[in-house]
Amino acid sequence: MDIDYQVAVIGAGIVGASIAARLTSLGLTVALLEQGSVASLGASAWSGGLVRLYDADPLLMQLTAHSLQVMRSPVFATTYTQALRCTGVLYRAGVDQQADLQAAIDRHASAEYPMQWLQGHGLYARRDDRLDLFEPNACVGDVRQATARLCGVLRSQGLVLEHCQVQAIDWQADGSASIHLGQARLRCRVVVLASGAWTRRLLPALALESRSIPLARVLTERSWSLPVIDAPSASYAIPLSRHIVQSGCGLRDRAAWPQDLAPPDARHYHDALKRVTQLAGGGQAQVLDILPGFDSYSADGRPLLGFVDDQRGLYVACGLSGLGFKFAPGIADIAGRQVNRYLTTGDPGMASPWTALCARRALHRIQPADLQQGNGHEQ
Ligand SMILES: Cc1cc2nc3c(=O)[nH]c(=O)nc-3n(C[C@H](O)[C@H](O)[C@H](O)COP(=O)(O)OP(=O)(O)OC[C@H]3O[C@@H](n4cnc5c(N)ncnc54)[C@H](O)[C@@H]3O)c2cc1C
Repeated sequence: MDIDYQVAVIGAGIVGASIAARLTSLGLTVALLEQGSVASLGASAWSGGLVRLYDADPLLMQLTAHSLQVMRSPVFATTYTQALRCTGVLYRAGVDQQADLQAAIDRHASAEYPMQWLQGHGLYARRDDRLDLFEPNACVGDVRQATARLCGVLRSQGLVLEHCQVQAIDWQADGSASIHLGQARLRCRVVVLASGAWTRRLLPALALESRSIPLARVLTERSWSLPVIDAPSASYAIPLSRHIVQSGCGLRDRAAWPQDLAPPDARHYHDALKRVTQLAGGGQAQVLDILPGFDSYSADGRPLLGFVDDQRGLYVACGLSGLGFKFAPGIADIAGRQVNRYLTTGDPGMASPWTALCARRALHRIQPADLQQGNGHEQ
C-alpha cells in the first residue's frame, strides 16, 4: 500500500521542522521523518539558541534579517517565536570593525529591530580597544521547544514519524520518489534532505563535514544580566541564571560524521575557564560540564540550500555552520517558495539574492548511484 504526500522532509531538527511547517502553511501535504525523536540527536539537541543580527558576512546578515521578518508570520509567531526570550545582546568588536558595524546599522537597524552603539554599560566596563554594538531585541531561544512546537502544528495537519531512519530513496522515471517504510511505501514529488551532519548518507556527492561545537556551562563569582560576545577573542557568555553561563571553546574538531568527532576533554575545560574568566574581568569560576555539540558545515560557512538535480525533486537544506537556529524561519520561507513553485510550474530555480546559497556549489559530479540509494557512506 502507498502513502501519498507531496513532500517528504527527512530530519526533524529545527531546519526540517521549520521547512515542513512552512510548506504546510502553503497548503502542501507534508510528511516529516526523523530517525530519533524530534530535535534529540542532531545539532538542535545541543544548540545555544542566540538570535541576533550582526554578522561579518553581509549575505548571512541579510538572511537573518529575512528570518526576523518571517518570524512574525502566523506559522512562526505561534510556534518558534513563543520559544524565544528577548534579552538583548552586547557585541564587542575590535576598533578595526567600525566601518562594517556602521554599515550594518545603516542597512538593517529599524524601529522593530534597533541596533545601536553603546558608550559604556553598567555591567561591562568600556575598553579602548573595543566598540560595543547593542541589539536590544536580540533573543535567546529554546531550540528543542521551538522544534517541538513546529512539530505540534505538523501533527495536526500532516505526518510526523519519529524513530524512522530513512535508509534509501528510490527515484522514479518521472522525477518523483518513494521511500520504503516497512511493508508500505511513502510516495512524494519532492524530498527535502534536512538531515544535518548526516545529509551525505543520502547524498554522498555533497561536500559537507561535521564540526564539534563544545558547549561549556560555567559557574562564576560575578553575575550576568545579558549575553555578551567578544569578537576579537571569539568568546561569548549566555546567562542561564545570574551566576551560570553557557560558553564556547576554541578547540574544535572536524570529521566526516558526528560520531567520529573527538569528545571534549581536560583541554576544553581549561579553555572554557580561561575565556569566561576573561569575559568576566577576573574572579573565581568553575566549569560544570562540557557538552559535545556539533553541526554540519559547508566549506564557505554559508547554508547549502536548493534543488540539486534537474531530473528529480531532490532539495537540500543543510550546512547551517553553527547558525541554523536563527536562520531556520528564513530558510523555511525560501525553501517553501521554491518547492511550491517547483510543484506548480516545474521550475527549480532560486530567487535572488539567495542564489549564492545554492547547494549545487557543494556537489561533486552526481553519479546515478548517489541518487538511487543511500549507499556509499562511511558509517
Ligand atoms: C553548542 C551549539 C550552539 C549553537 N548556538 C547557536 C546559536 O546561538 N544560534 C544559532 O542560530 N545557531 C546555533 N547553533 C547552530 C544550530 O543549533 C544548528 O545550525 C541547527 O540546530 C541545525 O539544525 P538542522 O535541523 O540543520 O540539523 P539537526 O538538528 O542536526 O537535525 C538533523 C536531523 O536529521 C535527522 N536525520 C539525519 N539523517 C536521517 C535519516 N536518514 N532519517 C531520518 N532522520 C534523519 C537527525 O536525527 C537530526 O534530528 C548552535 C549549535 C550548537 C551545537
